[in-house]
Amino acid sequence: MHTLGNTTPSLGYILALDLGTTGNRAFVFNADGKIVGQAYKELTQYYPQPGWLEHDPQQIWQDTCWVMQTAIRNAHIVPSAIAALGLTVQRETCLIWDKTTGKPLHRAIVWQDRRTAPLCHQLQEQGYANEIYDRTGLIIDAYFSATKFRWLLDKFTDVDLNNVLAGTIDTWVLWNLTGGIHATDHSNASRTMLMNLKTCEWDENLLELFQIPAHILPQIQPSLGVFGVTDATLLGAEIPITAILGDQQAALFGHGCDRPGLMKCTYGTGSFLVAHTGDQIVRSHHQLISTVAWTQANLRGTLDVGYALEGSMFTSGACIQWLRDRLKLIKTAAESEAMANQVKDNGGVYFVPAFSGLGAPYWDMSARGAFFGITASVQPEHLVRAVLEAIAYQVLEVVQAINASSSTPVGRLTVDGGACENNFLMQFQADVLGIPVERKVMRDTTVQGAAFAAGLAVGFWQSYEALVQQRQIERVFEPGSDTPLSNFATWQKAVKRTLAWEE
Ligand code: ADP
Repeated sequence: MHTLGNTTPSLGYILALDLGTTGNRAFVFNADGKIVGQAYKELTQYYPQPGWLEHDPQQIWQDTCWVMQTAIRNAHIVPSAIAALGLTVQRETCLIWDKTTGKPLHRAIVWQDRRTAPLCHQLQEQGYANEIYDRTGLIIDAYFSATKFRWLLDKFTDVDLNNVLAGTIDTWVLWNLTGGIHATDHSNASRTMLMNLKTCEWDENLLELFQIPAHILPQIQPSLGVFGVTDATLLGAEIPITAILGDQQAALFGHGCDRPGLMKCTYGTGSFLVAHTGDQIVRSHHQLISTVAWTQANLRGTLDVGYALEGSMFTSGACIQWLRDRLKLIKTAAESEAMANQVKDNGGVYFVPAFSGLGAPYWDMSARGAFFGITASVQPEHLVRAVLEAIAYQVLEVVQAINASSSTPVGRLTVDGGACENNFLMQFQADVLGIPVERKVMRDTTVQGAAFAAGLAVGFWQSYEALVQQRQIERVFEPGSDTPLSNFATWQKAVKRTLAWEE
């Protein structure tokens, strides 16, 4: 008998898709929860103007097909042996497309894009901040989808909206996978700034405020549940799509954080510290946002909703990519670790990673990145080290905000995401937090969470607890006695100088 409960050998696999900011990946898991095949493709980033970032939706779709087919081939299985597909995506990034031709009207506007900051400032000035926070749990910021949808609709005023569909990346890919199902899940919808956090439905007042017609928006469905089946012509089999989650929520699910007191921190393009808050919407008074963790229909036919508190830091691993691709100080992201270790300290250099403004706890769309404290003795190694230290300081600020919002302080940080590979960063993180930082053997928790959710929803696996418990710890970074916390105050001084930079 399978320890994890599946007894159907003919349907022995789960396919999971993680369509992230920097790239798209597909993993095939067997009934024991082990990876048997995978594929990855980096995604092109378009920067049409400073502060703007776009993705090509056609490339996302083509690469999705390629990674699915390649992962299945690498697993040496037939597509008909796949019991279910789980989909997780970069959140907030959105687009509109023509439902007759299937062609996007414009490239997708990525979550980091700041082009709608003026509209957000206008909404703040008009006094909408409290109402929007009350309805959505979110702070007005160009990060969320609503103002991006408005920008896109303003650009195509002559288009017949009866022919237009709108959605986040999950919706776009689901529509293509199924040949026309237009839906999303509550975790992704909660990031649009158009979903009411209490009713879990599109909020009529906000649709009115942003002038977004309800008929172009997808139907919101439970995160775990049947969304449809893949078009048989794509993979040669109709695979049920049984889970859709935002990437941070998928990682939360993968870590087993399903109740109050449990949280995780993902270090990807940005860093995201997310804490499950049970079936209650917890409001932080320290600039954290309230959001949906995931939802599932229960046997009574009503919706079980899990909520979360989140500290979103827009730029972390992306700075490492910038050091690699733009400054060319490193050849690979991994090289940043060796470089940081070559110097005994930061040489007095401090970095503020405000490439896309600052998220939690500042929420300043006008902040921009900066190095401070540069003297003639500064070497490239100091710059690289300062960037890594800044990633850790951002997380320290959010942990302090979580501690201020709760009666029990955070005692341990569980991590994942591309930049958690960096041992210097993880040790420095433990040192400044003064608590252990725990890294699991399996780092791709996002894709794993999507697989767990899809497999559980379809009854492929029976026990969430058993799935989560098999995740082994690879390393625990214990805080050192020599905590370099005095530098944190200097870093905060640097942050203050970057605020409101772009007037
Ligand atoms: P996303 O899901 O946002 O696309 P990932 O979790 O795939 O992000 O992580 C990719 C990010 O991790 C990139 O921004 C990359 O620069 C960073 N990264 C990868 N390896 C390392 C490393 N060893 N040290 C620091 N950053 C790294």
